[in-house]
Amino acid sequence: MIEKESFLQWFYTEIPKTLFSQIAAQVLFRCENCGECCRGEGYALVDEADLHEIARTLGISPSKARARFTDPDPEKNPGCRILKSIGPERSCCLLDAQAKRCTIYNHRPRICRTFPMLNADTESEEIICFYSDCLGTAKFVKMLQENRCDPKVQKDIESLAGNEERLQALKILLFVWLRRMMGEIEEAEHICRITEISFPPEESAFQRDCLAYFLMTITTDGLDEYQYEG
Ligand code: SF4
Ligand code: SF4
Repeated sequence: MIEKESFLQWFYTEIPKTLFSQIAAQVLFRCENCGECCRGEGYALVDEADLHEIARTLGISPSKARARFTDPDPEKNPGCRILKSIGPERSCCLLDAQAKRCTIYNHRPRICRTFPMLNADTESEEIICFYSDCLGTAKFVKMLQENRCDPKVQKDIESLAGNEERLQALKILLFVWLRRMMGEIEEAEHICRITEISFPPEESAFQRDCLAYFLMTITTDGLDEYQYEG
């Protein structure tokens, strides 16, 4: 297991700064279960680890899960397949189309867990992709518009920006949050142990810090042009 010094050296030099802004956005994001990202032209890419998790969740073998739920990946990403889109409106085979809910939500593939804030469109240069058909994104944008000029939020930004120690601790918390969200609990606990960070943080303070961090690192100038088209 990696120890504190080597972890911090790697952490401060190798992780792109934009990742922390994306994680902060994902912490603040609330999925509205509209089901839009689980149907249509797109599809969910799954690797062996995702497949094993789906199989374990449904109590079947990985080979059965592979045959029942996946097709070959048209883009031929190494070691990956895609979930079949065989439901109404080409929805994912694991979506309950009527309830608009993922039937394996807590065990969904990692690509679904990172949608939408950590899942920037690879063809766009934007750090965050504000999907116009995602109801949760529309609400997220509205929340940013309402809060970005709030004097309390401005004060939070100033206080966070002026305290390097707090800023670094927040980045570690965000990283731990991400590891846990991806199901890497042991790694997350190890990072907490070696960095002496306690998790979970106090919820409302964490949310405020995430909002302050997001607003101090991402420009929100273009947000007024966002239009929900769902
Ligand atoms: S696995 Fe769940 S979250 Fe992912 S595309 Fe299918 S229904 Fe949606
Ligand atoms: S499109 Fe957005 S709000 Fe709708 S289910 Fe997907 S993540 Fe949630």
